[in-house]
Amino acid sequence: ADMPKTIIVSNRLPVKVTKQDDAYQLSPSEGGLATGLGSIYKQDDNLWIGWPGIEITDKRDQHMVTEDLKELSLLPVFLTQSEINKYYEGFSNEVLWPVFHYYVSTYAHYSQANWESYQLVNQKFCDAVLEVANPGDTIWVHDYQLLLLPKLIRDARPDVSIGFFQHIPFPSDEMFRLIPWRSELLEGILGADLIGYHTFDDVRHFLSAVSRLLPVQVSANVITLGERVVVVESFPMGIDDKKYGDLSQQENVKTEAELIKETFRGQKLILSIDRLDYSKGILQRLQALEILLENHPELVTKITLYMIVVPSRDQVPQYKELRDNIDKKVGNINGRYRTLEWSPIQYFYKSLPIETLSALYSSADVCLITPMRDGMNLVSKEYVASRVHNDGVLILSEMAGSSKELIDAVIVNPNNIQEVSRAIVRAINMPRAEQSRRMILMRQNVSKFNIGHWVKIFMDRLNEVKQMQRSMQ
Ligand code: UDP
Repeated sequence: ADMPKTIIVSNRLPVKVTKQDDAYQLSPSEGGLATGLGSIYKQDDNLWIGWPGIEITDKRDQHMVTEDLKELSLLPVFLTQSEINKYYEGFSNEVLWPVFHYYVSTYAHYSQANWESYQLVNQKFCDAVLEVANPGDTIWVHDYQLLLLPKLIRDARPDVSIGFFQHIPFPSDEMFRLIPWRSELLEGILGADLIGYHTFDDVRHFLSAVSRLLPVQVSANVITLGERVVVVESFPMGIDDKKYGDLSQQENVKTEAELIKETFRGQKLILSIDRLDYSKGILQRLQALEILLENHPELVTKITLYMIVVPSRDQVPQYKELRDNIDKKVGNINGRYRTLEWSPIQYFYKSLPIETLSALYSSADVCLITPMRDGMNLVSKEYVASRVHNDGVLILSEMAGSSKELIDAVIVNPNNIQEVSRAIVRAINMPRAEQSRRMILMRQNVSKFNIGHWVKIFMDRLNEVKQMQRSMQ
């Protein structure tokens, strides 16, 4: 018999597939999840199943790409444009994303057709899993695009271990229960043996949704459904901290950082980095800066907000509108305060190479991260991991999952723009000793609970849960 193997499943494969002329090119992605799970899916017969991120309809092309991906231990699930529109954009990004980030009334769009596509595509992922899964295998399903998958796999193959991890928040059940298909979604997730979230609050919200909406027993963090027990726990995801520390010491990065420091000499450099998303609180952050400049004329020409927004979903009307509003707000503030040599905001709408990111992390006096809601927020941890000299100040929203670990940041409520503005003043005036005291503690946390640790404790716990289930039979 084959050795038991581990199968990772997520919406996207950790690889970028692009088409040039008639040939497909693969470039492995450098994302945190890909790095962390690399230690798993590349071993032995293990593999990663997901959508390659590009529509490929031609059967021969599909075959060719499948063969190329196989070399990298990857197995593609091909989606049609209609499935991408309905399952991915329509249901995942227009129902689950907004509701799970507490944007219910403005942005959630319930459509039966999109829900049906969501079910069909989850089944498609299940079929791909069933093609390769054997009894005794471990299957680790990731994120909100695949909430139905754990149950689909379990119904077809009760003899495997199934883990599920959700990378975005789980909202209060008062929000969650508004979704027309709430019970089906919960039952889908409960197909897993172990369910993981980033924070204890997410776990609590999930447990209360389950106990209020389904006829099951919930005791502490264990759910009993008939004969079966399911465990729910928090596993805050970490980063590859060493990579960010090492990057900051690379010669080319140091040179770039020097250049940035030289450009902003005599000023405090405040960095913010987000994907374009309404959950990131970008407009509120700009308001806080505006208030600061109004109340502190002595800081005009003394601070710069270096704001990077990474393009995302900007064909979607709400995202396009957000982008326009950011453009406008930045224009207003810069127009009002700029001088010949200085403007308060350096705004970039683009994604940057990791070396430039690293140079910015090392040269920023303050990193300002104020999402309205964020499952974890990796940027906050990357800033900390890059501060090898133990200086710099992190201002962090209490709505980011990472604020539960990085308790030595300056924690703010992002809706309180007065408070955020005061926090910026405090940060740029913070004595070096206090910066260092806080940064050392945060660096210890980021280093100890890194991505390798996260993968290990989730997998170990899944094994324990399976053993517990067996001992109860
Ligand atoms: N990032 C990137 N390109 C950029 C700027 C940032 O790939 O130009 C990365 C960043 O290093 C981080 C990720 O994007 O790892 C953002 O993750 P986070 O958890 O902060 O937010 P998300 O976008 O997942 O909501």
